[in-house]
Amino acid sequence: MQSIYLDHAATTPLDKRVLAAMLPFFTKTFGNPSSFHTPGLRAKEAVAAARKSCATVLNAHADEIVFTSGGTEADNLALLGVIRSATVSLGRMTMRPYSLLSTLSHPHVIASAIEHPAVLEPLAALEKSGAIELTLLPVDKFGRVVPDDLSHALRPETILVSVMYANNEIGTLEPIAEIGRLLLKWRKTHDTPYPYFHSDACQAAGALALDVEKSHVDLLALNGGKIYGPKGVGCLFVRRGLKLEPLMYGGGQERNLRSGTENVPGIVGLATALGLAQAEKERENKRLTVLRDRLIQGLLKIPKTRLNGHPTERLPNNVNVSFMDIEGEAAVLYLDALGIFASTGSACASQTLDPSHVILATGMSYEAAHGSIRFTLGHGTKKTDIDYVLKVMPGIVEKLRHMSPVNLDMKYFR
Ligand SMILES: *Cc1c(COP(=O)(O)O)cnc(C)c1O
Repeated sequence: MQSIYLDHAATTPLDKRVLAAMLPFFTKTFGNPSSFHTPGLRAKEAVAAARKSCATVLNAHADEIVFTSGGTEADNLALLGVIRSATVSLGRMTMRPYSLLSTLSHPHVIASAIEHPAVLEPLAALEKSGAIELTLLPVDKFGRVVPDDLSHALRPETILVSVMYANNEIGTLEPIAEIGRLLLKWRKTHDTPYPYFHSDACQAAGALALDVEKSHVDLLALNGGKIYGPKGVGCLFVRRGLKLEPLMYGGGQERNLRSGTENVPGIVGLATALGLAQAEKERENKRLTVLRDRLIQGLLKIPKTRLNGHPTERLPNNVNVSFMDIEGEAAVLYLDALGIFASTGSACASQTLDPSHVILATGMSYEAAHGSIRFTLGHGTKKTDIDYVLKVMPGIVEKLRHMSPVNLDMKYFR
């Protein structure tokens, strides 16, 4: 049977060239970068080269890159690290201006309502414990944050703003540079270092330019498993001069921001994958956009179907549609039986059958959110794959709609 993998937003296969770059660091060059002998030095050099290479892609300095265990840790380090640093320093703040003191004693954080759980959950936990006040910014019907809404939500005590580069479920690109400029101006007029600007770029890193000077982000998270690199490794860009507490304490690796022996093969793999993705993105984006739009146009021919996310300002590989009166999960199972691997949205949300918080935030009904399916294309996707999906999808939708009274009953008994 065929195998058509259309879930590249969940994770990508490892690029052969990335694997080749990683292999020596599992075997020959196995040293601990903290050791003083030659094997340690070789490993240390590899990590330094990877750091330089990631920094170059971000137009950043090498000392601004912190390697982590993935996107989740990078997001947590950014958010918890900034918030804890602000509260920890409160004890030594008595000599500081009152305005800054009051900023830090009632810290306020703003995040978009459509962030990944790796951002929303740590913030929800801190809000629950009373450590911060949290404002979730609404999005428009395409899933875009409206910069004016952010302007209105900003307060003197806002220490952090978190808006993702591109959404993992509906693929919408956020106006990051515009938000960055807005925050820069706010800090200038209010004469304060806050709020810092964090952006989760896990979905963007394979397809978009990540220049932190152009976007004015202060913290940027990305990971290997979404860009044809290894899973379980990521990095956080931390702008020079920014104050951050670590999550992990120990041997003081990563400039004290992330203790623990470095994942040398993973770090080499991440840097190689990021370099390749950025070098090849123009050509690949063009190819994927054609396939993406072919799939969108074809699926929208099915009655009572609508597109989720923005028609053009979306990731080149993302297709997300809602079929009215069906359950997305059921359609995913039918597709799986035909060797087509898609998703209802985020891999993390699939443990529950709650409708997507992202699609609900765009103003869609519960029914429409329940019928959402995400196809995310990748390096291996061919035109014949798209045409096969378009051939089988109308039948699946019709079958499930025919069974819809059963599905509706199930909804009430869950
Ligand atoms: C996958 C993903 C994460 C989590 O990354 P891990 O490497 O799985 O921890 C965070 N944010 C976004 C937008 C993602 O797509």
